[in-house]
Amino acid sequence: MGKLRTIVVGSGAGGITLALLLARAGRQVTVVESQSAVGGYLRRFTREGMRFDTGFHFSGGYTNIMRQVLHVLGLDEASRADLIPNRIVLRNTGDDLTIPAGSGFRGTEAVMCDSFAGDAPALHALFDAVDAVWKSTPMCDLRDLTPLRLDISPYDMQTVGDFYRSVGMGPAAGTAAGSFAMCHGSLPSEAAMSFHARVGYGIFDDLARPAGGGDPLIAAFLREAEKLDIDVRTGTTLLPFTETDADGECRTALLSDGSRLDADQVFFTIHPASACELLPEQARTPSLCRRLRRFRDSTAFFCSYYVVDEGTPFTPGLVSFFSDTDMDAILEGAGSSYSTGYLLEREPDLHGKMCSVVAAFRTMRPGFPEWAAPTPALRREDPRYREFKAEITEEIAADLTALYPEFKGRLRPVATGSPLTCRDYDPPTGSAYGVRNVCGQARLCGRLPVRNFVLAGQSVLVPGVMGAMLASFTVFRQAVGEETYCRVIRDSGIS
Ligand SMILES: Cc1cc2nc3c(=O)[nH]c(=O)nc-3n(C[C@H](O)[C@H](O)[C@H](O)COP(=O)(O)OP(=O)(O)OC[C@H]3O[C@@H](n4cnc5c(N)ncnc54)[C@H](O)[C@@H]3O)c2cc1C
Repeated sequence: MGKLRTIVVGSGAGGITLALLLARAGRQVTVVESQSAVGGYLRRFTREGMRFDTGFHFSGGYTNIMRQVLHVLGLDEASRADLIPNRIVLRNTGDDLTIPAGSGFRGTEAVMCDSFAGDAPALHALFDAVDAVWKSTPMCDLRDLTPLRLDISPYDMQTVGDFYRSVGMGPAAGTAAGSFAMCHGSLPSEAAMSFHARVGYGIFDDLARPAGGGDPLIAAFLREAEKLDIDVRTGTTLLPFTETDADGECRTALLSDGSRLDADQVFFTIHPASACELLPEQARTPSLCRRLRRFRDSTAFFCSYYVVDEGTPFTPGLVSFFSDTDMDAILEGAGSSYSTGYLLEREPDLHGKMCSVVAAFRTMRPGFPEWAAPTPALRREDPRYREFKAEITEEIAADLTALYPEFKGRLRPVATGSPLTCRDYDPPTGSAYGVRNVCGQARLCGRLPVRNFVLAGQSVLVPGVMGAMLASFTVFRQAVGEETYCRVIRDSGIS
């Protein structure tokens, strides 16, 4: 029997993970990417001779699961990362604390308890819950090859808000300790405690800055793809399928460049709404459309990028700034509530000269102003868009210089990106992480109503880049079965 012909739609962190796993399992894989290059939000861009990130600034997991994931994929050289400090500032209460780089899980707990002594019992309960969730999550240690269990935990049934109330957490301590809700963009009043806790474990344990952002990961993927004979097609979009065959499958894919691909199975690693639009009409059943309508989007970000004059005192790290302690309002983009993450970084420019740069991402409600023009070219011409961007860029810089007065007059904006910029890529709604996590709501992931179609889905266990990669591991495991999955893991030499 010939190799199973498999298409992976999308080449972000989720797509490249699935493509490598499926090829290592013996499939003949084609990756289809509508952008001109692979990587999705792993991609970086160049301004004034410097590289900047789009959607991969920092991550947890570099001392454990991320390292394992990269090893199994054969991308070890992309596992270099620097542990960074995390400064958390709450403007309305004046709380300002820094968790030193490499504090580790319990060290972070100690700093939090020192800063919010009255909330220490609640914080201990939070850290214990986070630890328990992480240790009981299947796939958080790839060396564990016991058959996949999909147990329901009590934390799957409890929202973050309910958990906080049950342990008597105060608002300031709750916002500081849950500041990583920025990393999933789902409201604490709705998000499952288990989902929130998995992100928290990574951030508490080993917050790290991947060296070179997504560049080494993309480069290593391209090298492995060539070795494994993965056909990578960029600059071409998968077009909607028109009909299923007698077996309820679609085996011929048409691409926007006019080419045609035969496939036994198709994996979608794109926003669920985008994937569903590619299904043939008869597969878009009323129940699927109802489910889709129930999903709401995570928060969106406005990004701005700055160069800091050489000679300015500068300490790399993450700064998480909150305008107030109402995390629901912040993530919803309600009223004047917002939060901004600043990644302060020293990195060589293209000539090897070290530079200080800041990437800032401020929460915004997903969705677009009525005047928003549909294409980048038209938006560039629109003075309203220019004003909107200039105003927010200035506000972001003003908050930063209030925290670091030494940056005053020494901060130069070099680029901006709004949720509208994201809309030109994926997800189409401009949200940062795709759909929001809502406690008790099933995820749209796994088999689709066309028998040979699978949705890898974002944020199944964890959001972000690591989440997209782990979601692909989970979907791969279910699609190829335990035996093949275990063989691929064992062949990597990890267990
Ligand atoms: C501003 C911002 C900052 C972020 N910061 C971080 C961070 O610091 N750390 C972190 O871990 N996460 C961060 N994230 C989240 C993270 O970037 C994403 O969760 C993750 O990269 C998603 O990966 P993915 O593979 O699911 O999707 P994507 O990276 O979006 O990849 C999907 C790909 O599919 C392609 N595509 C779509 N439709 C089609 C089609 N029909 N045919 C062919 N190709 C198609 C798209 O062009 C895209 O390349 C951030 C996100 C944003 C927006």
